Amino acid sequence: MNIAVYCGSAAGNDIAYSKAAELIGKWIAKEGHTLVYGGGNVGLMGVVANTVMENGGDVIGVIPNILFIREQRHNGIKNIIDTKSMSERRDKMIELADAFIALPGGPGTLDEISEIIMMLRIRELDCPCVLFNTNDFYNPLRELLHNMVSAEFSSQEDMDKLLFSDDMAKVADFINHYPGKKNA
Ligand code: AMP
Repeated sequence: MNIAVYCGSAAGNDIAYSKAAELIGKWIAKEGHTLVYGGGNVGLMGVVANTVMENGGDVIGVIPNILFIREQRHNGIKNIIDTKSMSERRDKMIELADAFIALPGGPGTLDEISEIIMMLRIRELDCPCVLFNTNDFYNPLRELLHNMVSAEFSSQEDMDKLLFSDDMAKVADFINHYPGKKNA
């Protein structure tokens, strides 16, 4: 399976975030999955990519031709796909991936995972989407999504498609046993 991981281009202020990135990276390699990610060598992005490679797994980096991002690209990755823009990169990652995980991160991570949540809602995608909830990082987002259901801007059915968890066994089980298929 190709697993897209969205995560911070910074490492955050708690070692727990890097540990979570390592946990995901080890699981991807152990299961024989392929990491699809943003191609950077910075922050949690670098941690997850390096962990997959150190454990013998495959990595695909999808990286836009934007100076700031190019400067931070991971030169150790053999399989790099260059894109013209951030939006082309996002589309490419979605096309390649069979499941999506957001680790803690900043606005870029929020933007990327929000698109997946939206695409599940409009049924353009039907595949596992995990918010990896280290240090309860994503609780405010979960609360906001619950508010959307309460205020009838969204539905419980849409909420039920998402897993918020920091338990790797539960995450693996959710991804492995997800009933849907990628393109709805
Ligand atoms: P942020 O969460 O704001 O740090 O942004 C991280 C997300 O945005 C990643 O999942 C990447 O897809 C993208 N991104 C941001 N900065 C970079 C970078 N320097 N190199 C590659 N991708 C990046």
